[in-house]
Amino acid sequence: MEDEGYVINGTVLLIIIPIFILFLSTLRVLYYENKANCNSISSENVMSAVKDVERNIPVITLDVLNDSAYEVIERNATFVNSSEYLKEKVQERVNLLNYNCDLNCTIKSITPYEKDPFYIEVNATITAKKDNIKHEENSSQLVSIEGLPDPLPFTKCNPISHNLTHIQYHHALVVYLNGVENGTFYENATSPFIIKKCPYEPYESHGSTPLLLDCIQNGYYHESNDGACYLCRLEGKATCPHQGIETFIIPGILNNGSSIASIDHVIFGDLYEGSPFIINSTTLLFLDESHQRKYGIIK
Ligand SMILES: [Zn+2]
Ligand SMILES: [Zn+2]
Repeated sequence: MEDEGYVINGTVLLIIIPIFILFLSTLRVLYYENKANCNSISSENVMSAVKDVERNIPVITLDVLNDSAYEVIERNATFVNSSEYLKEKVQERVNLLNYNCDLNCTIKSITPYEKDPFYIEVNATITAKKDNIKHEENSSQLVSIEGLPDPLPFTKCNPISHNLTHIQYHHALVVYLNGVENGTFYENATSPFIIKKCPYEPYESHGSTPLLLDCIQNGYYHESNDGACYLCRLEGKATCPHQGIETFIIPGILNNGSSIASIDHVIFGDLYEGSPFIINSTTLLFLDESHQRKYGIIK
């Protein structure tokens, strides 16, 4: 009987061992499958989080630019270093984004875009990690300044008002130009409130009266080597070392004398004279020779 017992135990053992091995290997396969599955979910999470932050950066930057411009406009204050201020504000907002992985986004710089003054460049480094999946990306994106308000006049003149499309200077520009020859010609002057890129190129085409009038009525801005870029406008600077933009400031009354040239960086910075160019019975500009040439008024 005892012998029989051993035989049975031996047989059971022979059956159990392969079952046990089979069980272990099934477990292992399941484990690997599960791990692979987890990894692909992690990698999807990581990639989509990085892409999402990347999509959010220009949206947040535009919003921060808009808020900052209104801060300047409403408080008649300026930023000492707009690039640094914007960088901090965008960083604060980016930090509020939530993802189901370990994500880090550092805004490295916000600068004028050298090749086109109607854009601002945002550089950031984004790293995302989940489990053993890690992804890092250096992102460089452009944000258009079209549609943003122009803060510059509000840093120079007070009180002035705007109707969402144009700025009315009332008497404030005359006060600002106090002492400048024929500064009074700028009584009730107007200029654009919203940055819009002038579609009329080359700029010499402004020599055509209907086209120039349309440009003035729409309040367009033009590329300019002398005019300030958007970030420097937030600092109250009318001229800057970057590639910038300029617009016309339209005197409120017709006059035949000469006055300061009707270009924003001239009025708020360079202060040189222009001769009258009467466009029609209600509109004139004072333009110096170089701007007359730029806009095709003289050849
Ligand atoms: Zn134009
Ligand atoms: Zn600048």
